[in-house]
Amino acid sequence: MSTVDAHAELAALAAEAERRYVERNPESRRLHRARARVMPGGNTRTVIHVPPFPLTIVRGEGARLTDADGHVYVDLLGEYTAGLYGHSHPVIQQAIRDALDDGMLFGAPNRHETTLAEALCERFPSIELVRFCNSGTEANLFALSLARIATGKPMIMVFEGSYHGGVFFFGTADGSPINAPFPFVVAPYNDAEAAGRLIAEHAHELAAVLVEPLQGWAGAIPGERAFLQTVRDATAAHGVLLVFDEVMSSRLSGGGLQAAYGITPDLTTLGKYVGGGLAFGAFGGRSDLMSRFDPSRPDALPHAGTFNNAVLTMAAGAAGLTRVYTDAEVRRLNGLGDRLRDRLNAFAARADLPFVVTGYGSLAGLHFARGPVRRISDLPDAGELRALLHLELLEHGYSYARRGFVALSLPFDEPDVDGFADAVEEILDGHAALVRAAVP
Ligand code: PLP
Repeated sequence: MSTVDAHAELAALAAEAERRYVERNPESRRLHRARARVMPGGNTRTVIHVPPFPLTIVRGEGARLTDADGHVYVDLLGEYTAGLYGHSHPVIQQAIRDALDDGMLFGAPNRHETTLAEALCERFPSIELVRFCNSGTEANLFALSLARIATGKPMIMVFEGSYHGGVFFFGTADGSPINAPFPFVVAPYNDAEAAGRLIAEHAHELAAVLVEPLQGWAGAIPGERAFLQTVRDATAAHGVLLVFDEVMSSRLSGGGLQAAYGITPDLTTLGKYVGGGLAFGAFGGRSDLMSRFDPSRPDALPHAGTFNNAVLTMAAGAAGLTRVYTDAEVRRLNGLGDRLRDRLNAFAARADLPFVVTGYGSLAGLHFARGPVRRISDLPDAGELRALLHLELLEHGYSYARRGFVALSLPFDEPDVDGFADAVEEILDGHAALVRAAVP
């Protein structure tokens, strides 16, 4: 079969799967239309839109979601890693209830923030002092602003395919039109030579290198240790600060990928599950840098945010880190991700399918590609295949992000993972000839 014929047939199959989706989800469609009357495109968060409309979710329990039409799905998206604890973890729920009983808007420090800050300083090698904010985006804004002040230099280096928040998106080297107006230089990911060269070249104007130790948005692509070590060495040699964005990757060991790799950045940004499932961000690092925010200093930098120490978030986050996400749970969850990856990669190799599962531990990326995936430019455009796999997996009762992103959550066990792998294999088997013909 020619590539052109394969694409035409795939487009027809995807259109047919989409027709079944529309038919099966009348209430989600009605709710989407109602939203669209008051929100642009019926959406307030671009990444959760899928054409022709996303499912509206009405309930979550454990690792399962129920949509507005009553379908139940195993949730493999895990709210893009923020849903680590699942939808109804009793320890998290009780922590929130207990905190709520004592009131939640004090305009003052509360006792939960100490516990959460202590847990973070203990777990993350780079974090000597930490501050809280409300999102991962905000954490990166503060960390980068601090780096620019501390170094007296303006520019930030990021990597192609990186996502550091709504105003720090570099899906392509041009960046998003809505990015924060910092001067950026964009380097290829996992290319130690290019990163070292660009850091040296821009050293006089470069405040910081901001890097995800595992690129999430790009497709759960792990940074190679040698690459990250080169970036660490080059930044240290040239007076440039290194910021690890561990908003997604912090879950991959007790102390993030920095602990797993033994590479310590100057600053680290966090978000997602660290707030126990409530809105959260944090940035922390070397005490000489972070102490610039000490309000008792005459030259203190201000750091504001009404909800920085939101009581419910601090309580839920502290309970999660101190009582739920133990080293044993980190290992168990990472093991489930390894099981999924090993199984599907072995299947693809046996079946000679251009299909690769990337990732590290509990984070995985499902890709239609032949070769090793080390950076976003290794991924061919496979929009129709991604749409078809997504729509058919929904029909099998599995939800995840259409671009292939999977984040396992604590309620998962082996049968859930195996059931998902069975469904992926069944679908790919059914379309094997098309998949082989469509992917170059
Ligand atoms: N950094 C990374 C690596 C992320 O994946 C995200 C969100 O997906 C962010 C930053 C931004 O976090 P938030 O959505 O909380 O602003």
